Amino acid sequence: MGDLSGLAGQAGGIGVEPLPPYTDPRSALKRALPSLRPGKRVSVTASAEQHMRVNVSGQWKKFRADVAPYMVEPTDMSASRQFRALVFAGPSQSGKTLMLQTVACHAIMSDPGRVALFQMTRDAAQLMEREKIAPVIYNSPDLKARLAQGRGSDTIFQKIFTGGTHLTLDYPTPEKLASTTVRTLMATDFDRPAWGNGSIGDGDPYTQMRARTRTYMSRGMVIIESSPGAPIRDENWKPQSPHDCPPVAFGVLSLYPDGTRGRWYVPCPDCGAFFEMTFARLVYPDSADPAEAGEAARMRCPHCRETFGHELKGELNREGRWLHESAPADDGKIRLVSVDHSDLRRTDMLSYWLDGASAAFSTWAELVSAYQVGLRHFEATGDEEKLRGTVTTGQAQPYLPRSASSEMEITLDALKDKAQDMGTQKGTAPSWARYITVSIDVQGTYFSVGVTAWGEGGKHQPIDRFDLIKPPETAPGASGRTLKPGDYAEDWAVLEELSERVWPVEGGEWGLKAVSLAVDLHGPGSTTDHAYKFYRARRKAGEARRWHLTRGSGGLNHTDRVWLKAPERASGKRRVASDIKILNMATDRLKDAVAVSLRLTEDGQNICLIPEWMSVKELTELTAERRTLSGWEKRPGMVRNESLDHLVQARAQHIIIGAEKVDWSNPGRSWAVLSIENEFAMPVGRDSAGHVEEGPPAEVVISERQADRSPPARDGWISETDGDWL
Ligand SMILES: [Zn+2]
Repeated sequence: MGDLSGLAGQAGGIGVEPLPPYTDPRSALKRALPSLRPGKRVSVTASAEQHMRVNVSGQWKKFRADVAPYMVEPTDMSASRQFRALVFAGPSQSGKTLMLQTVACHAIMSDPGRVALFQMTRDAAQLMEREKIAPVIYNSPDLKARLAQGRGSDTIFQKIFTGGTHLTLDYPTPEKLASTTVRTLMATDFDRPAWGNGSIGDGDPYTQMRARTRTYMSRGMVIIESSPGAPIRDENWKPQSPHDCPPVAFGVLSLYPDGTRGRWYVPCPDCGAFFEMTFARLVYPDSADPAEAGEAARMRCPHCRETFGHELKGELNREGRWLHESAPADDGKIRLVSVDHSDLRRTDMLSYWLDGASAAFSTWAELVSAYQVGLRHFEATGDEEKLRGTVTTGQAQPYLPRSASSEMEITLDALKDKAQDMGTQKGTAPSWARYITVSIDVQGTYFSVGVTAWGEGGKHQPIDRFDLIKPPETAPGASGRTLKPGDYAEDWAVLEELSERVWPVEGGEWGLKAVSLAVDLHGPGSTTDHAYKFYRARRKAGEARRWHLTRGSGGLNHTDRVWLKAPERASGKRRVASDIKILNMATDRLKDAVAVSLRLTEDGQNICLIPEWMSVKELTELTAERRTLSGWEKRPGMVRNESLDHLVQARAQHIIIGAEKVDWSNPGRSWAVLSIENEFAMPVGRDSAGHVEEGPPAEVVISERQADRSPPARDGWISETDGDWL
């Protein structure tokens, strides 16, 4: 393979096998014969069992269709001339990829033609070739013997076989979807963003793929497989027919209802009635830990209510069958029928949907424990990604985003209720405060500052809020103008004192300085350049680890909630701050988490408490955006959302300093301790009434602090905790 891979660029246009240098006409005719014969009448799975080898735990063995019995009907039906399309929705561990391999094998051995296999991306296509296509061909003697010898006949992106099968590995670009004319077009991971969430170039990818196979008439077939990835659009949806499916905007399940609507049924080991093994029918103890819950999981038959264990799944699958919806009878009733029944739903699309609990290659224990872990992660962090992942790829069910449902809305009334009797004074941290983060939003004529105090288990509360509107005296023309962070780099000096400011802790004899401070680097004019300059100066002053420059990215497809990365060179831009690691924030995911915290009313993990001092205007800012299925967007008429942005930045800092991983029974980190021993604690006095006095002026604090440490080390305090900081 390696020596031919350089020809990849030529893949595409070549449709016929190039002539070898010299060939005996008789052997050439014999080799070409398969293409002159009509397709052999052998089923796709039978052909694969005869000719295809697969890697089973490192050994190349003959393909066996009975390993995943539910794949037999879809695989065999892919050769049917009665249908033009086949859609398969299933979990990642179901053997769907194997179906595509067997279809290709059948074409090579028994049904020559033009076959295209679309992967999500060019890289994914390359990977598919390297791991799933080339090894199967090379380890299956019959397939290998058919591989053509000519130049360009065995590259990463195309394989040509004697007999006439021409297999290409493609990826969805508007050009490829518009140009390829193929008999069998296969598409994988159809719900992933690479498929354009239902729109690529001129239209939806499914319609474009159908158009590519049209010239082949009844021989044309589009095969699509994926785990359901598109979110449910209507939380109040109720099924209208036995195999109805929730409304989604794109992906396999947007196509499924247009097809025959097949689902996989097995006979109950107790009563013998056929039913679907689904994740929803698994029963397991609620309170146990995820692993325990998983191990105890059993399937409940909906007919007799008896339960049985995972060990029976394989056996039941061997007796399973696909049942599809019928066309409505005269009385309007829809029954369940086999695919060859004359009452089958009238459509030219076969559609199959396999629940994760039926899949051969994952256990119920794994599914249940992954779900429990996802739920717990959501409850602990407000982040839904793990949960969504196991529901869609594990259970093969569409996901209803929790943050997008109406009951999850943040309302002004709820915030006002929450603020009642929360009497902490503005500028004072509650008694449980262990560390403080400062969030700074850059506006045209001011810095908007929000200060958040954090306690055990992510409990937090806004403790201060102010705008810095006056330029420092040292800045050009300072006396006669307002602050302009986008115009004057010198104006940024007003932020410097924030790292030395001390917020008194209620009832304590100490106050806290911020463990972390973050400034957003988006803003008008030269804000970004000024932010870099400011950060470099802070670094020089030994405060690099405390200060962060933040950048928000929207969208729900980020792998991480926060990550540190140097900015990328924008085209045409001369300078790039390769020396600065930006704190990137997946804002939509963080807003989901912030929203959960704001809604929580019972004291617990990650709750955000609202102090009484917050004004209606500031509270309203928290409700300025709403969650839609594609992310967060401003509500009509809402202008300011600074309170919300502050909490997002605060959460990003809380995550990046590793606070989610602190063991609160033994914090082990000097900034997480609830005492004067805290790294950032500063002693403050009390007046006779027991009220905490104002903290000493910043200048005094600096000199005391410096007196403590001589000489101050660069990034002084961090060196002790460096190991577990990030
Ligand atoms: Zn039963």
